[in-house]
Parts: sequence; structure tokens; C-alpha cells
Amino acid sequence: MPENISIFDVPAIEQLRKELRLDPQHVRVLRNRLLKRFLADETALAEFPASDRIDCHTLELFRRCDSQIDGASKLLFKTSAGMLIESVILRIATGRTTLCVSSQVGCAAACDFCATGKMGIAQNLSAAEILDQVLQAGQILATEDRRLQNVVFMGMGEPFHNEGNLYDVVETLTASHLFDRSPGSILVSTVGVADAMLRFAERFPMVNLALSLHSVDQLTREGIIPLAKKYPLDQLRMALQEVNRIQQRETMIEYLMLADVNDSLDDARQLAEWLTGIDAHVNLIPYNAIEDSPHLSGTARDDITAFADVLKAAGQKTTVRYSLGSDIAAACGQLVRKENRQRAIDSHQ
Ligand code: SAH
Repeated sequence: MPENISIFDVPAIEQLRKELRLDPQHVRVLRNRLLKRFLADETALAEFPASDRIDCHTLELFRRCDSQIDGASKLLFKTSAGMLIESVILRIATGRTTLCVSSQVGCAAACDFCATGKMGIAQNLSAAEILDQVLQAGQILATEDRRLQNVVFMGMGEPFHNEGNLYDVVETLTASHLFDRSPGSILVSTVGVADAMLRFAERFPMVNLALSLHSVDQLTREGIIPLAKKYPLDQLRMALQEVNRIQQRETMIEYLMLADVNDSLDDARQLAEWLTGIDAHVNLIPYNAIEDSPHLSGTARDDITAFADVLKAAGQKTTVRYSLGSDIAAACGQLVRKENRQRAIDSHQ
């Protein structure tokens, strides 16, 4: 019995087509139905002559948690290696839909405020595992008569630590014969791997980039983001300028609001100054407390507004992130983290 072929394996599907002397139209119809229209597997495969040879999915949907308070759904997937990852569907009140995807299991950046960084393991997801998150979420939304609009790399992992697969994923998402999504509907968020940001901007000038800055004081930043030692602020600022020049579009600056760490009005003034001459949109992120960092707490709502006002007064485009799914984030996030730690230990025994 020959092995099944992943729907994302372009050369293998082409070989299968030649082997079976299929009309290219068959492959086109299959891809259009599955990757562009997100129809159910059976419908997409219905008229494909070798449907039993095609695997539509590499991930198993392990659990789905739908928010009871807003339009967020957390999808827990199991990889073929038995690890759990999560993706989040955000159905925003304006009617927009965004999918937040994971690029790794765990993360080597080990940021103090991040549950994924506390997992103590980091494994890259394959391109197919990242793409299948988009496919399965797209299929869920299609059953609700919604269209998936944006894909953001803000789930588990550091996308630029999985650079090769990230490139394959973005190529596949934007290829007209595959997902056919616009590059402007994709956003890649990084902890600040300066050289990879430049390479990415060169290769994908139309894809949005976001930098998790969180502080413009080098020591403060190192205190919460260990990787900041490797990519100091001066280097990041130069990278941002270069990314702006290459992309001719604004870069998103994420700034997590942590009480008494980086949230004083003076911090706001320094941030505005640091961003002078950079085309940036600052997104202030309310902190979701995590169990492993009891020493961290989020900035009060009013203080976030005051921080935003200082930035705006300095002429800096600023918004506060509207966060969805607070009721399911804790439950599912914790679940993945604990289960994966056990799964990693088990697989080493
Ligand atoms: N590694 C990438 C992408 C994943 S995290 C990055 O660092 O950008 C996506 C965003 O969520 C980042 O800005 C990250 O700093 C933020 N984040 C991580 N933990 C958080 C928490 N507990 N509360 C709020 N935002 C968090």
C-alpha cells in the first residue's frame, strides 16, 4: 500500500497526478474546494479520482473550547508526535475573523510572562502542521457561513525560530493555486530576532510584521525577555528602520502592560521617543496572568489608558488590544502546558 499524500505536498500530488494520468483540473478543483472555500473533506474529495490517497489533515482536533462570553474558540490539536498545540479563532464584533496560529510546541525564548515559554521544551511544527491549523479553522468558520480573514502568528512559539517552515507556510498561504490569501492578511509576530526580521521583510515585503517590544530599557527588557541579550535594543531599532524602508508599511509594536515593570508614564514618554522616525502602530496588550509568574501582574485599565494618552499626545498611533476569550484562555492554555510537559517526559523514558 503506498503511503498517503498530504494535501500540502505539491510535488507528491503532481507525481500522483502523472502516475494516474489525471487531468490537472481534478487537482485544481480539489484545492479550490479545500484550501480556498474550506469545504468539508468529503465534499472537497468527492470527485477526486484518487481520494483515498490524499490526507487532508496532519493534526487531530483534540478539543474545542468555545467562549461563553464572546466570539473566541480555542482549538486544541494533537500532532502526530502526540504533543498538543493551540489555535484561537477570534470572531470580532465588527464581523472580522482572525485565526491565531502556533508555530512551535513550547518556545526557546522563555519570556517570563508567557505560558508557552515556561513549557521547558521547544519543537518546531512542520509547515503542514501550521497550515492544517488554517485549514481546520477555515472549515469550522465555513460551516458558520463565515470567511476566515486574517492569519496571525501569535500563538505558541517564536515563528523566526522555525524560519524555513514559516517561509513555506507563507508561500503556501499566498500562492494563487493553493490558499490564495493576500499577503496583507497575514501577520508574523516576533520576540525580536533582528536578522530574521530583515530576511523576512525582503522576501515578503507585503506581509505584516509585529515586534514584541515590551520595554525600551535594555535591562528591563532583558529581565522579562531573556533573548533580549542576544538582540539588544539598538540592533532592533536599526532592524525596524530597515524593515520600514523595505516594506514601506508600518510595523506593529506590541507592548505588554506589566504593573511596575514597564508601565510608568515615563516609560510611555521613552517609548514615544524611541519610536521617533519609525513607522509604527503601538498595540498595548493587557497582561493575562499566568500561574508560573506570580510576581507579575497587569496594569490597571485606567493606567493603560493614561499610558496610551501619553503616546497619542506624542503623535504615536496607539491602540489597546481588545482581548477575547478570557474565560477559555486560562483553562485551555494551562491544559496544554501541563499535558505537554508530561508528554515530553513520557517520550524520554
Ligand atoms: N513569539 C512571538 C509570538 C507569540 S506571542 C512573539 O513574541 O511575538 C504573541 C504575543 O503575546 C506577544 O506579543 C507576547 O509577548 C504576548 N504574550 C505572551 N504572553 C502573554 C500574556 N501572558 N499576556 C498577554 N500577552 C502575552
